[in-house]
Amino acid sequence: MSQFERLIFGNIEFADSEEHLEFQFKFLCIVLLCGAVFTAVFVVGEYTRLNPLDSPHVLTMRFFIVAALSLWCLLRGQKRRFLAIAWVYEAVCIVEYISVLAYVPQDELRILWLFTNIPGVYLLLGRKAGFVITVLSVFGLLFGNAAMIQPYSQPALATAVVSMVYLALFFHVFSSRSVSYYVRMRESNERLYHLAMHDTLTGVLNARAYYEICDRLIATARRNARPYAVLFVDLDHFKSINDRHGHAAGDVVLKSIAATLGGNIRQSDALGRIGGEEFSIFLPDTSRDAALQVAENIRLAIERRCPEIGGEQCLRVTASIGVAGSESAIDDMLTLQQRADQAMYRAKAAGRNRVSLFPASSPAEELALPA
Ligand code: GH3
Ligand code: MG
Ligand code: MG
Repeated sequence: MSQFERLIFGNIEFADSEEHLEFQFKFLCIVLLCGAVFTAVFVVGEYTRLNPLDSPHVLTMRFFIVAALSLWCLLRGQKRRFLAIAWVYEAVCIVEYISVLAYVPQDELRILWLFTNIPGVYLLLGRKAGFVITVLSVFGLLFGNAAMIQPYSQPALATAVVSMVYLALFFHVFSSRSVSYYVRMRESNERLYHLAMHDTLTGVLNARAYYEICDRLIATARRNARPYAVLFVDLDHFKSINDRHGHAAGDVVLKSIAATLGGNIRQSDALGRIGGEEFSIFLPDTSRDAALQVAENIRLAIERRCPEIGGEQCLRVTASIGVAGSESAIDDMLTLQQRADQAMYRAKAAGRNRVSLFPASSPAEELALPA
């Protein structure tokens, strides 16, 4: 964002999914500023007598300038206020237009203000509000015309009403198309993002996304001087499941194990599939002892589960889990993953279906079952 944009819109960021809101927010900021500036030109014209209005409407114009500038100040940098401010602005505009119609008799173009309002309402407040304001404008003009100091002729009134309805129809169609375009774009962006981040078979993070998230979690943990740990989960003799029951059965088991892993960790932990039957789990804010306990719970949960592979058959599977905890401030994800890898291979060598810690400082830290 350039310095100039920051001045107009304030310090504000929009997510990819807020593209429509970003357009509406910026449009409203510009409309508020332009409305205030253009109205100020008329007020200056009155003061300098270059364009004397000699009407109580000058007072309404002053009110409009103050209101538009105040709303702009309130809106800058505050996207959550957009809708409320857009509605207040519309109310201010209606007051301004009624004042124009009532107090500016010599201006034949005064009806134009109603026309400029309709597209703005459609763009800022949507179709329902656009429809309501159009109906109010049409009926207000039809029934208020007689009360004006200088009423419009019947043909002028008919032309104004037909043009206003035409304009509203045009913007009704335009805004439904553009909103559905924004919605579809947001949905397809979300779908693409999900596909780019997740493993298609199991639905957990894919390796690239997992490591990216781990790097961020490590940076946060370092800033807060908190411990963290990595679990490396490798299923035992998985190849033989494929060989005996087929690849499809193996896939079913993988999905079921991924669900078991997800069900045994916290919302704040990260779970990724980093290889065929290999999963890695990052545990922020977790000591090595706590990580060992989580790993043991996971090992037991996998052991107890018997994923159904069809034909009333279920397959029991076990996992070997390597655990590595952060030891110094320079531990990065690669180092931690390599250590968890080594610990996992030790668990395999010791007979599988067990948890192994890197480094194994005492036999008590090796939570293991007899193979
Ligand atoms: P170990 O106990 O030593 O880990 O033995 P293992 O058989 O699990 O080890 P290995 O790494 O040799 O085999 C992993 C197998 O996982 C090989 C491959 O056929 C299978 N695999 C990898 N990705 C998938 C997948 O997406 N679906 C299925 N069904 N199987 C997969
Ligand atoms: Mg493996
Ligand atoms: Mg394996």
